[in-house]
Amino acid sequence: MQRNPICPKCGQLSKKLLTCYGARYYCCDLWAWGEFILVDKTTHDLRKLVHSKFDPIWKNGVMTRREAYKKLSKKLSIPFEKCHFKMMNKEMLSRALITVEKIKETQTCFQWHKKEASQMLSKKY
Ligand SMILES: [Zn+2]
Repeated sequence: MQRNPICPKCGQLSKKLLTCYGARYYCCDLWAWGEFILVDKTTHDLRKLVHSKFDPIWKNGVMTRREAYKKLSKKLSIPFEKCHFKMMNKEMLSRALITVEKIKETQTCFQWHKKEASQMLSKKY
């Protein structure tokens, strides 16, 4: 049997709610999707924000999803298996946000060089 995560605020077992998005555990003003540490709204919002910034990195095809997570875990110096936003706390998420911006900068640079190179090639030949 699976055990509900313990609420970090009051120390009680969280309650489980089955929603169309999967199991949601909640207690006090904290909640988690799946069996992870219960966190507050600010953390959930921060996660959403980091996700929205991170996902385009692998969605635009420059690198795969796995490569993108690998890169992020390396830069955050955390194990690859633990590099999931749903496992990160506020502090790690803020670090991730900065790191994601940095990865994006180098990516844009890479794409620009690629474009430049192909333009040069088409001009010459
Ligand atoms: Zn509680």
